[in-house]
Amino acid sequence: MDVKSPYLHPEYETLSREEICKLQTERLRETMQRCMKVPFYAQKFKEAGVTPDDIKSPDDVRRLPFTTKQDLRDTYPFGLAAVPLSECVRLHSSSGTTGNPTVILHTQRDLDEWANQVARNLWMVGLRPDDVFQNSSGYGMFTGGLGFQYGAERLGMLTVPAAAGNSLRQIKFMKDFGTTAVHAVPSYLTRLYEVMQEQGVDPRKDTKLRVFAIGAEPHSEEQRQRIEKMFGVKAYNSFGMSEMCGPGVGFECQEQNGLHFWEDYYIVEIVDPETLEPVPDGEIGELVLTSLRREAMPLIRYRTRDLTRVLGRTCPCGRNHVRLDRMKGRSDDMMVLRGVNIFPIQIEKILMQFTELASNYLITLTTDNDNDNMTVEVEIADMFTDDYKRLQELTKSVTRALKDEILLTPIVKLVPKGTLPVSEGKAVRVVDKRKVYQ
Ligand code: ADP
Ligand code: ZN
Repeated sequence: MDVKSPYLHPEYETLSREEICKLQTERLRETMQRCMKVPFYAQKFKEAGVTPDDIKSPDDVRRLPFTTKQDLRDTYPFGLAAVPLSECVRLHSSSGTTGNPTVILHTQRDLDEWANQVARNLWMVGLRPDDVFQNSSGYGMFTGGLGFQYGAERLGMLTVPAAAGNSLRQIKFMKDFGTTAVHAVPSYLTRLYEVMQEQGVDPRKDTKLRVFAIGAEPHSEEQRQRIEKMFGVKAYNSFGMSEMCGPGVGFECQEQNGLHFWEDYYIVEIVDPETLEPVPDGEIGELVLTSLRREAMPLIRYRTRDLTRVLGRTCPCGRNHVRLDRMKGRSDDMMVLRGVNIFPIQIEKILMQFTELASNYLITLTTDNDNDNMTVEVEIADMFTDDYKRLQELTKSVTRALKDEILLTPIVKLVPKGTLPVSEGKAVRVVDKRKVYQ
């Protein structure tokens, strides 16, 4: 480990496009070999008439079948294992945000490589062994806990498994242990800041915080900037999903110009969710990932349902691993209201532009007299609840700004700080009470 190097794994991080393609070709062949032991894949490869020898470039992945979350459910719990269970050492289950849980198996090598991926990301944003890393994310089945734990330890940092919640204790740990870096979901960090304010704690003076890893849930650029301003701390977007290991799949570098997805570990495709054909760089589509190193449960062309686009394939940081835009949301997060498609992140983006508003908000969809309506409740930052006129004006401007963005007029309700529910894990932003969905 050369602490002065900007790269933890220079041999992989600085590969040229040509070298990435060569490595991916080899690794895709190996992955296919492993998949042949899974009847599900063996059958699908046979139907597609493709063998590992047919893979001449990473683009040949397009000859292979897609894998969906439904396939994971249909083969629950161990149907996609590519090694005997005796070789697996850990099982994680996806948090089931959108349905039944799915099971993901890991061999010891899978866990080692996952720790390396996370360590690489944390190194990339300037963390070194003398940093103190507090992991304020849920532990247990949620991969954000153990994933960051092992990654931060692999880097050599003093790692505090603080887990989610209990804000007073989080703040005490930060002060007492000299925490310099925190991983948490963004919605929780904004809550933590409010508690700091209530406690008279100034993160700039009273803590040594300098780096945040935020992720696990969609959040807007405006939300990130707000977090950075509140704490005076750089916040880097971290993307992960249980099916691909967990956190560590994609991460922003210090340029903060998109997420580098690690192409030594994954083949990244962006496809049109309807036609399943690749979309050109710059166009939004569904992210499809093929794992290249996973042993216990390799997945081929996994449809993540996350919507994003390619921003570029080079970067001033010297890494040529593809840069993807922050996730717009999952295809199933999309709300269809009176025929208009809306993502929660669009609402968030607008709300965050109002400094008078706090960060917690809730979107409720209802059917009233056969009309679909959207109510946006948002907490106010300053306590001027008595100033009726000011509240009314603010409500009007927020409504207008939202209308400009989503082309529908929502009902905006400003509520006092601390009144909307806060979840310890991923934030629940939308409650759909409509009679008919879509
Ligand atoms: P579940 O699928 O049950 O939510 P996971 O914890 O595996 O369980 O969640 C992975 C999903 O979380 C991703 O597919 C994506 O939708 C979301 N996600 C993770 N990181 C980010 C991020 N940085 N930005 C936006 N969404 C994210
Ligand atoms: Zn970069």
